[in-house]
Amino acid sequence: MAGNWKMYKTPTETIAFFEKFRPLAGNAEHCEIVICPPFTSLSAAVDAAKGSHIRVGAQNIAWAKEGAFTGEISGPKIAATGATHAIVGHSERRQYFCETDETVLKRTQAALEFGLVPIVCIGERLEERESGSTEAVLIRQCSCGILDLTAEQFAKIAIAYEPVWAIGTGKTATPEIAADAHRTIRSQVREKFGKEAADAIRILYGGSVKPDNTRALMAQPEIDGVLVGGASLDPVSFASIVNF
Ligand code: PEP
Repeated sequence: MAGNWKMYKTPTETIAFFEKFRPLAGNAEHCEIVICPPFTSLSAAVDAAKGSHIRVGAQNIAWAKEGAFTGEISGPKIAATGATHAIVGHSERRQYFCETDETVLKRTQAALEFGLVPIVCIGERLEERESGSTEAVLIRQCSCGILDLTAEQFAKIAIAYEPVWAIGTGKTATPEIAADAHRTIRSQVREKFGKEAADAIRILYGGSVKPDNTRALMAQPEIDGVLVGGASLDPVSFASIVNF
């Protein structure tokens, strides 16, 4: 169960979140919990999560180790905060910051190189769904990205299926729509890496997940977890998602 805080919460606000969230869900044993605050709150989150099951992730990662890349944050810097995960290729990065399948792959490889678990986001835009090309888009995003990893690298990632039309819009994909997309992704994985890898890969659904729709989504065997934006900002709401 992953929370993406986007561009919200200072270090002080991060500490306040953990104070409320930890007693509610900090030691949940049925799932892994990852919270992804802004870079500037990573260290505060790692400190506030110490002694719990909660892991902390970044929302992006540079493809290089270091160098003249103003404004980028690299894997070693993220890892030095104690964070263990990095979201890669979020649709807001693709939409507003020119992220492409190629740069997403490079960032995914960088996360792996520096020991971070990449949560790789893919998903179709509204016009792509309406024109009936969802499957083709997912196949393209897989084949120009995660399927280029080696089998060993692939075993370390998580995938988030996030239909762009469902992110921050209040329009959740129905559990059936989400499961259908997850099946498409898993079948691509099966073709490339085999059944074992396809069974083992964790595919999260993201897009307007809320406390009242989590259980129905999680009831789909294809859905292994959720990536939550808006509803992860409130400790009570995210705890009730975690404890669905
Ligand atoms: C997200 O940011 O990845 C996301 C799914 O946002 P929301 O839950 O607000 O739709």
